[in-house]
Amino acid sequence: MSIDNHKYSDWDVRRVKELDIRQFIPGCNHRKTTQDIECPFCGKKKFAVNAKKDFNNAKCWVCGQGFSGPIAAVAYYSGINLDTDWLHALEETARQGGIVITPQERRREESIAAAIEASRQSFCNQQLEASGLTLEDVTASIIEGGQELFMPTFRKGRVNEMFVPDKSGDDMLIYYYRLDGKPMEYTSKGSSRPRQYVRVRWANPDIHRSSDGKPMKYQTPAGAPSRIYIPEKIRRLYKLKSHIDTLFLQEGEKKAEKACKHGMLSIGIQGINNFGSQQEGLLQDIQDIAKACSISNIVLVMDSDWNDLHRAIKVGDSVDKRPNSFSKAVIKFKQYMSTFHNIGLSVDIWWGHVNENDHGDKGVDDLLCGALLSREQELLEDIERTMHSHDGRGTWLNIHKITAISDAKIRDFWLLNDVHAFYEIHKARLTVSNI
Ligand SMILES: [Zn+2]
Repeated sequence: MSIDNHKYSDWDVRRVKELDIRQFIPGCNHRKTTQDIECPFCGKKKFAVNAKKDFNNAKCWVCGQGFSGPIAAVAYYSGINLDTDWLHALEETARQGGIVITPQERRREESIAAAIEASRQSFCNQQLEASGLTLEDVTASIIEGGQELFMPTFRKGRVNEMFVPDKSGDDMLIYYYRLDGKPMEYTSKGSSRPRQYVRVRWANPDIHRSSDGKPMKYQTPAGAPSRIYIPEKIRRLYKLKSHIDTLFLQEGEKKAEKACKHGMLSIGIQGINNFGSQQEGLLQDIQDIAKACSISNIVLVMDSDWNDLHRAIKVGDSVDKRPNSFSKAVIKFKQYMSTFHNIGLSVDIWWGHVNENDHGDKGVDDLLCGALLSREQELLEDIERTMHSHDGRGTWLNIHKITAISDAKIRDFWLLNDVHAFYEIHKARLTVSNI
């Protein structure tokens, strides 16, 4: 099929193909579902026209020529070359059939304009702007109610106590869509009706506290499992089955979008541990992307404060008092990613983090809006260099290959970092005698 057909959505093209073929073939009886009329090619009265749901076509019993559908019929009678000018034939069929089809690009622009108007000055906009994102950047091609639509995945709104979203509030809602573009759903306990998977970023975390009293910035609906957030760029590569050399896992949806915007192909996870669970194993979407895009490398990316815990260490604290949740997360990551092997994939596993810099950037999104603002392409160059270096140390990120590193070594690495961080922080106060 012609590349041109991307001008219109599959949904619009299908609507044209479903137009009754009889209205485009002269001499048809519109009350008969099947009929033999005079063949436009050989003139025999053996031209079978079918206007059934699954067979909307025509073919001559004698000469074998015919029309595969309404577009081919219109092309023939209007003198349009179907092979070289399919798009023209499509548009002409829509025109003759009396239906309006709108180019995707125009529908996309109209959707974005409407979304911008609706969320002007909203908390959602502020959040996106802070990450250097526009509504256009986060607009996805999705399927809702059987229709292909363009919608931003970050929208102004609120959720009620049942976590049902509506447009009235001024929190930020993050809509999750599957790889096929349909809404992700979940079923909460005690309910049989699936609900749309929407995460919320509260504008005022202080009035939304978790069970242990802590203010919550983000909230996932109660009873909903962790899912990955899939930026449109990744969804498109998945649909096209394009190769992704390196897939990055970012902590959070905005980071994933911002990284994708600048070519660092990423998906969002909801926390450094949330790429799988005991019950589900490695999240299916990650497996599906890995398979369809034959990824070669997968990298878990952490913020620059990944070892911030060390700053709180006081002289005299014992080594084992230090939390080692980060090394646990990395070991779990390695174990889960090793299961790629079971589905026949050979994927190298990496762990990386943003380096501390003078700008104080924490996440990849901060880095791209901070120290790397207007020279964003340096990030990819640095990553490329770092992943080919002997020690995994880059300018902006350190990235270490852990495919073949033992769990014990990963723990040791953290211990060494502990000692190093401890020394850096306290060296001024350390004397030869107390070292
Ligand atoms: Zn014929």
